[in-house]
Amino acid sequence: MSDGHLDSLLAGFDRRARGPTAVRSGTTESVLVVSCSMARCAYDASLWPLDPSRDVTAVTTLGNQTWDDHDGERGVSGSLAHLATECEPTAVVVVGHTACTVVADAYERYVAPAEATGTGIEARLDPLVSLVEDAVDAGLVDPSLPLRSARHRLVEYNIVRQVQFLTAELRPSVPVVGYVHDQDGAYRSFPGKHYLVTVDGETDGDAVRTRLPSDGSVPVASLLY
Ligand SMILES: [Zn+2]
Repeated sequence: MSDGHLDSLLAGFDRRARGPTAVRSGTTESVLVVSCSMARCAYDASLWPLDPSRDVTAVTTLGNQTWDDHDGERGVSGSLAHLATECEPTAVVVVGHTACTVVADAYERYVAPAEATGTGIEARLDPLVSLVEDAVDAGLVDPSLPLRSARHRLVEYNIVRQVQFLTAELRPSVPVVGYVHDQDGAYRSFPGKHYLVTVDGETDGDAVRTRLPSDGSVPVASLLY
């Protein structure tokens, strides 16, 4: 996020939430960033140079999942729910990354289901395996694709689903945005960029752009929609 476009995006949301004249000085806008615990793109100030006045709380989860399943019931994951109450974020950012080995593992388990061993990590991967199934059923990921392309598409699909889930679960006034950290040059030729793939679960590029600063500073992209 070296060009700081996340800041311009969030500033736009802040203005909209408070009204154009209600500028609060000396206050910090709290942003909750969810990224993958296995990622090299886990929240890092050098990768995410947000305005220093912005109060960023980072949480990492396996495959940037935002939910927990308990006895067949899905709810906001414990750590995230706690932070969402504690720091009252003005926005939530979910970040995925194209080289995600967690998503790749879930895809492998979908293609060639391994014998269940009942381990904790398996329980955390199961929701992602069923998400892979949904993506294939929806025709968004074709199992005949090269593994790498399938993974890239699933990473975006996962982000969209996590954002849709949080949008439904959190206060409606809190925008939830989804980014993909393109480590592989999957979206454009140059790796290392971040692309906005959804705002509040909306995936239509034109509809997403209506929510953004009009200067085109926020790159919107999709491999799926
Ligand atoms: Zn990952």
